Amino acid sequence: MDINLLINFAYIISALFFITGLKMLTSLNRARQGNIISGIGMFIAIVVTLLDRGIVDYKWILIGIVIGTVIGTVVARLVEMTKMPEVVAVFNGLGGLSSMLVAWAALYPELKTLSINTVNQPITIQSSLLMATIVLTIFIGGITFTGSLVAYGKLSEAIPGKALLFSGQRFINGVLVLAIIFFSFRFSLEPSLNSVDFAVVLLFSLLLGIMMVIPIGGADMPVVISFLNSYSGLAACAAGFVLNNNLLIVAGSLVGASGIILTNIMCKAMNRSLRNVLFSGFGSNKQSSQNIKGEVNPVNTEDAYLMLEAASRVVIVPGYGMAVAQAQQSVSELVRKLRAKGKQVRFAIHPVAGRLPGHMNVLLAEARVPYDIVMEMDEINDDFPKTDVAIVIGSNDIVNPAAQDDPNSPIAGMPVIEVWKAKQVVVFKRSMASGFSGLDNILFYGENTRMLFGDAKESLIDLVSKFKT
Ligand code: NDP
Repeated sequence: MDINLLINFAYIISALFFITGLKMLTSLNRARQGNIISGIGMFIAIVVTLLDRGIVDYKWILIGIVIGTVIGTVVARLVEMTKMPEVVAVFNGLGGLSSMLVAWAALYPELKTLSINTVNQPITIQSSLLMATIVLTIFIGGITFTGSLVAYGKLSEAIPGKALLFSGQRFINGVLVLAIIFFSFRFSLEPSLNSVDFAVVLLFSLLLGIMMVIPIGGADMPVVISFLNSYSGLAACAAGFVLNNNLLIVAGSLVGASGIILTNIMCKAMNRSLRNVLFSGFGSNKQSSQNIKGEVNPVNTEDAYLMLEAASRVVIVPGYGMAVAQAQQSVSELVRKLRAKGKQVRFAIHPVAGRLPGHMNVLLAEARVPYDIVMEMDEINDDFPKTDVAIVIGSNDIVNPAAQDDPNSPIAGMPVIEVWKAKQVVVFKRSMASGFSGLDNILFYGENTRMLFGDAKESLIDLVSKFKT
């Protein structure tokens, strides 16, 4: 049997594994299996690629695999869920970098063959197209690499998260893009081993990645990371064309498409356009609290317990603070206590609660909260008038009524969970500090709102202990 046919058949099988795995990731019950299936697809892809490429020495490849496996395993085991966006940022950056290096490595043998074949002859259209594909890979890979590093720096606070804006910024970015296009054309038409044009494309692409991300505030970094995830897929796809590798093209397209879909979901959930996220410097200005009138009513765990004792229907709204406090196990314990007393308990999950879509679902699943009581925002929002107690745990922006009531609010129009419509609301947080968007929240001053100040985990442990006694 033709070996090429066999290899392409194996690639199709891998692609099917990737697509099935991705599809399964959309359901909480099957996400874990989906991950394993995608992993098997990748394993097949790696084995077949190693057989396919006529490799003469496996030593360095094996060393790379061992180092990569050790780093990947340690990172996956040690990194906390709250740090996941940073990890994704680094992975995207490395994806971009590897596509860039693959294209760069493919360039030299091509140029050598060209210089032998084209002495005194014009370069063919085919060779020009290949050169254009190589520079395109370098361009997308370069942007992804440096852009992801800046995004990582902002999220981890290694560099200031504030949007860095200066006059003429867009003009400079425009000039960089035009220069990259111009020099890419020149290089594709007249490629040579010591080309300055190529060096300019490489350096300007790396610079453009930095310039594109510095004007975006830390608050929007998760969206940027998802967007760059899509770029890393496109870079891999372009590298697939350079190497003539069908699976890399398919896998890159899958990553590119899913990254842009996720970006779109996040933008919609915040009622903002991608353009607004990329260019508005959102979240860098804190709104004054002077406009908000009303009294803050603190509550202790004893009184919160009594409120819950009297309630029949309870809805819990988890947010970023629950993740930071690592309070999911205590939340799960509280749910068990309440259900044991015959109360209806459900969760309301906002699409951008936390710092990544699905962030809350993963934490709750980890704490063994039953899937069937975890509701999406749209499924449960109408039920708040019939809810006795809404418990808000480390959420802020996603329960801010200003999104509906204040047309001048920066989050005006963002879909929010309507906890204020419940008979009573208990908010677990440490202070009156604002959330991710930097906005104050009138919910905390509501007549039916009680603030339970303190670390969410400590407050919950205390609250749960009241049930025991
Ligand atoms: P927020 O960032 O709005 O609020 C989190 C709250 O948690 C803070 O007000 C903080 O108050 C509290 N908190 C922090 N640590 C603790 C702790 N140890 N114990 C108790 N409370 C704590 O989070 P939300 O989940 O409500 O909203 C998510 C935000 O992230 C939105 O603005 C969304 O647009 C944005 N975002 C989300 C994305 C996603 O995909 N999920 C993507 C991009 C942006 P205090 O300091 O007083 O304790």
